[in-house]
Amino acid sequence: MSDLEFSRGLHHLVDGCHAWLEPDGSWGWSNAGLVVGSDESLLFDTLFDVPMTRSMVEGMREVTASAPIRTVVNSHSNGDHWFGNQVFPDARIVASSATAQEMQHAGPDLIMSLRDAPGGPGRFAREIFAPFDWSDCSPLRPTETFDGRQVLDVGGVEVHLLELGPAHTAGDSVAWVPSAGVLYTGDLLFIGGTPIIWAGPLRNWVRACDTMLGLEPVHVVPGHGPVTDTSGIRQVRDYLLFVEEEATKRYRAGMSPTEAMHDIALGRFGEWAESGRIAQNVMAVYLELDPSLERPDTREIFARVAALEGYRD
Ligand SMILES: [Zn+2]
Repeated sequence: MSDLEFSRGLHHLVDGCHAWLEPDGSWGWSNAGLVVGSDESLLFDTLFDVPMTRSMVEGMREVTASAPIRTVVNSHSNGDHWFGNQVFPDARIVASSATAQEMQHAGPDLIMSLRDAPGGPGRFAREIFAPFDWSDCSPLRPTETFDGRQVLDVGGVEVHLLELGPAHTAGDSVAWVPSAGVLYTGDLLFIGGTPIIWAGPLRNWVRACDTMLGLEPVHVVPGHGPVTDTSGIRQVRDYLLFVEEEATKRYRAGMSPTEAMHDIALGRFGEWAESGRIAQNVMAVYLELDPSLERPDTREIFARVAALEGYRD
């Protein structure tokens, strides 16, 4: 694990690579990355709302004064990684095609509607989303898309965008800076919190972990939580394989997804925050084993996670 302090703000990693961290890393508190070249910079992900993103830009000012942000990359379609895009009206905004596609159905309206839901799920959404302000949110969509892989030149620094999804969402991408040994992973890594499989398949997320490990990064900036190294990638890989094994065992024993999610003893993974996400992760495995099962939508998934976090009707 990195010994870099997990505090809000800009942290210098090495050779023009920075991390913007937002504790505590729970729902909506996401990190961003900044790669600074000779005369321009690249921002990897914006934050969950416009005021937070503006505040981040202020906090980066000293570093970006002589190297303005000309490129914004969105790692995936969850709002906490792109709802601040409108702060960069003149930048090129890059995402994978799958992410750009998924963004069409993942705008602020969806998140705001979760807060209006009745009962436990609504209370859960109002509580976790209370700190965020979407009153002026109309996020810009990507201006450029890519499939698989794209190499960008950021003022003389090579940044490799690698699309490793579908996993967490349909089109997860990471940014790899080979000259610095820095990897920005988006939500392919949650550190200290529980990963959630919105899209899957689970095995592709495991493969994504293997690809990230194969890069042999020195500094790894997760989508949520403190900066880590390859040990953080291994932990997420271990969790995914644990969920796959435990859920599959219970599927074969004839348990329903609901029975399975309550029956699984999380052990050391139970110490991670947002452990209720096991609800969706078990469902993801069941859907792979039996594609005829009805696929729950975002609202339903959210309600199940809320229930496991103690927010019942
Ligand atoms: Zn996120």
